[in-house]
Amino acid sequence: TEPVVLITGCSSGIGLRTALATAGAGLTTVATMRDPDRSAGLREAAAEAGVEIDVRRLDVTDETSVADCVGAVVSAYGRLDALVNNAGIANTFPTVEMTDMATFRAGIEVNFLGVVAVTRAALPHLRAARGRVVTIGSSRGLIAQPFNEGYSAAKFAVEGFMESLAPVAAGVGVTVTMVEPGPVLETAFAANAGVTRASLLADAGPYAPVLEPYLDWVVRTGWPGAQTATEVAEVVLRALTEPDPPLRIPTGDWVREYAGRKFVDPEGREILALTRSWLARPEPDGAA
Ligand code: NAD
Repeated sequence: TEPVVLITGCSSGIGLRTALATAGAGLTTVATMRDPDRSAGLREAAAEAGVEIDVRRLDVTDETSVADCVGAVVSAYGRLDALVNNAGIANTFPTVEMTDMATFRAGIEVNFLGVVAVTRAALPHLRAARGRVVTIGSSRGLIAQPFNEGYSAAKFAVEGFMESLAPVAAGVGVTVTMVEPGPVLETAFAANAGVTRASLLADAGPYAPVLEPYLDWVVRTGWPGAQTATEVAEVVLRALTEPDPPLRIPTGDWVREYAGRKFVDPEGREILALTRSWLARPEPDGAA
């Protein structure tokens, strides 16, 4: 049987394109979403591409839904070889002082704890399959974006979680990779956040004079290095299939250079070699 991959957040954007890419590459593709009533776009695209996709319900913030879905997939196919943590929300508000804790928490629930919950539920099966965890990070989780504290913090949290897990998971045969896109156009990400320039400025209070030039800069420059969801999906497929993927894969030259301002080791190979060496048994006559 073909390897089985479970992807979260497949009703739009990168998740939808990734499901098409993995199904097209011959992987058994379980495309999950909070609300399968919103699967028409994916189903039509799959029919057009002539690929088969198994659509199932999974809300990353609902532990029962996570356990039920992972359990049902393993009962149906007898295995789970890979997980793609893709689901996320823009969780946009002007700045922390101008929002409430419930809004802030809601972003952490989806963008960070959702990743933790699904990864945790999948790990026993990924261990059995010597499989992979591929997680969609963001340039915003490497260098934080102004006026995006909640999103950046959640994405930084995911980075720390996966970087800590990677050497441990490698020790039991599971590969952990972060796919790092810069700005991605043609997804529902911004629209799903339901904000506009006017609504952001209206909610910004004393920060409006700081926010306005930033919004102008965004309009003036566009998003340098922007890619399509299809381009990102191709990198996810690489992370799922290439023999020895690194800890991080920047999805394009722009994000590689951007992250390079922070990282001397943008792919994390040296970090992972270092932390894995701490988990290796010393040679019998051993130094180390
Ligand atoms: P998108 O809004 O099109 O896709 C996100 C998907 O996650 C949606 O289908 C949404 O319904 C789903 N989702 C939200 N809450 C969920 C929940 N509780 N349970 C299950 N699914 C849920 O946007 P996208 O750009 O395709 O985003 C996918 C990933 O890419 C996210 O992790 C995002 O942070 C990341 N990303 C996006 C950009 C960008 O500029 N769009 C850049 C870098 C990284």
